[in-house]
Amino acid sequence: MAGSDLHVGVLALQGAFESHLKIFKTMGIKALPVRSTQDLDRIDKIVIPGGESTAIQMLLESNSLRQPLRERLSNGMPVFGTCAGMIVLSKVILDGRDDQSPLNAIDIVVRRNAFGRQIDSFESSIDVKGLSEPFPAIFIRAPIVESVGDNVDVYAKVDDQIVLCGNASTLVASFHPELSSDTRIHEMFLSLGK
Ligand code: GLN
Repeated sequence: MAGSDLHVGVLALQGAFESHLKIFKTMGIKALPVRSTQDLDRIDKIVIPGGESTAIQMLLESNSLRQPLRERLSNGMPVFGTCAGMIVLSKVILDGRDDQSPLNAIDIVVRRNAFGRQIDSFESSIDVKGLSEPFPAIFIRAPIVESVGDNVDVYAKVDDQIVLCGNASTLVASFHPELSSDTRIHEMFLSLGK
């Protein structure tokens, strides 16, 4: 689907989902909060927001969304994971909770809270492959991508650490693009699957 028929969903169980809904609104894109399988049936693309990855994963289970979401993702529904969302979508989580099992939607290994406890949050102007001007990236207890599989492209690094990467249907960011007023990373997401 394209144009006004496109329905973007934002998983709205926990975390920074309101900011994603708001940024899509400023872009003129219809975005719906996703809390149930009925909501999931209505959307063509989905964002998994930042927040607390362990809580998001628990709530996916308790709302019976984990399995249907995995199915949609394995059928190629485009997905954008930011911060905790990136952790949830990964293949392997380092420094995760023992019972934390990710959705394995993209072949990456992520480390939680990787920038150290002292540096809780920071902003950095980062160069992104495909963007002509740097992007103002806000990091909050951010994970990093320790390694990527062969079919994953790296789009940005900070201190030589991967912070933005993806493939044909998936985009994942260590930072929070929804917290800046810059819509370019959301535009990258919307171009997936076209
Ligand atoms: N540290 C959080 C986690 O592990 C992620 C932080 C965030 O999303 N801002 O889930």
